[in-house]
Amino acid sequence: MENPQAPHVLMLPFPAVGHIKPMLMLGKLLCQAGLSVTLLNTDQNHNNILNPIDQSSFYSRYPGFQFKSLAVGLPPEHLRTGPVVAELLYWITSACSTKFKEYLMVEENEKGQPEPVTCIIADGIMSFTIDIAEEFHIPVITFRTYNSTSTWVYFHLHQLLQNGEIPVQRDEDMDQQITSIPGLETILRRRDLPPFCKLDSTDHLLQFYMGQTSKMKRASALILNTFEELEGPIVSHLHSIFPTVYTIGPLHGLLQSHINHNAPPSDSSETSVRPQDRTCIRWLDSQPSKSVVYVSFGSVVVLTQDQLLEFWHGLVNSGSPFLWVIRPGLVLAENNVAETPSELTIATNERGCIVGWGPQEEVLAHRAVGGFLSHSGWNSTLESIWAGMPMICWPQIADQWINSRCVGEMWRTGLDMKDTCDRSTVEKMVRGLMEDKNEEIRKSTAIYSSMARNSVAKGGSSYHSMSKLIEDIKSIQ
Ligand code: UDP
Repeated sequence: MENPQAPHVLMLPFPAVGHIKPMLMLGKLLCQAGLSVTLLNTDQNHNNILNPIDQSSFYSRYPGFQFKSLAVGLPPEHLRTGPVVAELLYWITSACSTKFKEYLMVEENEKGQPEPVTCIIADGIMSFTIDIAEEFHIPVITFRTYNSTSTWVYFHLHQLLQNGEIPVQRDEDMDQQITSIPGLETILRRRDLPPFCKLDSTDHLLQFYMGQTSKMKRASALILNTFEELEGPIVSHLHSIFPTVYTIGPLHGLLQSHINHNAPPSDSSETSVRPQDRTCIRWLDSQPSKSVVYVSFGSVVVLTQDQLLEFWHGLVNSGSPFLWVIRPGLVLAENNVAETPSELTIATNERGCIVGWGPQEEVLAHRAVGGFLSHSGWNSTLESIWAGMPMICWPQIADQWINSRCVGEMWRTGLDMKDTCDRSTVEKMVRGLMEDKNEEIRKSTAIYSSMARNSVAKGGSSYHSMSKLIEDIKSIQ
């Protein structure tokens, strides 16, 4: 530990890539500001995600950081889509809850040590921390790794249910506006809600999220990886729940602008928790400017064989070169897997590049890339906005449905392709985005990119909010 007198922040991410990455970036910024940070991960992530990269070089990028783990014993492939997700979420949070309490009890017994915990920063869906931390009189700041709009929607799930706006079960109701969420009355349709709002009122995921958000309200403050200029009006609404909301995004941009000017700026690819195949950068170097469509569905979404083939045909038929992240496990293994049609293989050899996991932020910044076909996970969406990269959104789970509506309708930084991925739609969308027909989208994306950059520069809104978060932690007695 660099400074034994520094306030000590205990961070508890939810164990999935899209949640751990922003927590790591935030931790890094807190460390740069002289705070001491412990990141408490589940043992499965600790051992299987962080370590293969090259443990010692990974850890050396986090001076002042301590990595500890909770021995919850998750099965190795523990995050999948489908009906098991709800079970898994309940399982993870209850297993972590028991171990977390044990962890704090050990810390408590060692209070004479130089490093008692000053505050806890916990993922918004690890709200059990609030009950436990209250017993130990430690304040909890909740970090919801969604954007403000999705966070605000999730806070209204109960109300949507009471008002009969969910569950949405009839196709003919999908295009009705959602009216009971202040600030979103003209934006959100029922089809833009997460899939668990379209099942039934006892759905376990719906119940899980309602429980988490109601508990989350007891946190002392809220952190969001977004910026005022993007979502200011919704952030104002969130102030009705949390007196203090720290909007500190895009975190990967803030890391580059480095809040502590004595510390070197960070390359945010340092916070990747998976090994990256960089050969795609060489391939991109050989492509014409703004010609390539980059395709990635993040770390959790899965495709059926049929969906894979529809995307593949659509991409090939669009005529654009493409860089596609097909991570192990992306495609559901099915019986009777059809052979890949030879025309796809030939076209991919000619003008495609496939990697298992790439340096996404660098890819989005590459001059050869002209569009991003994405599942609209929040990290990916924010990285796209930062890079000024127009998107095509194909949401599959959770907040991705709301993000894609924000992209398509609120910010107009891309096209919302929810509900379908047939080859002709994919082709039409890719052509629409890549053939420069979408002047409005390109202009809007450039404007938000510039706002994002201003927000993390000295004096910008996110820079200011991060400085305030650091000051507030330092002032906790
Ligand atoms: N990512 C990456 N390389 C890839 C694909 C994704 O580094 O080949 C990163 C991406 O930059 C983003 C994260 O993985 O930061 C995915 O997070 P997101 O919230 O977009 O989606 P999730 O994985 O949570 O569904």
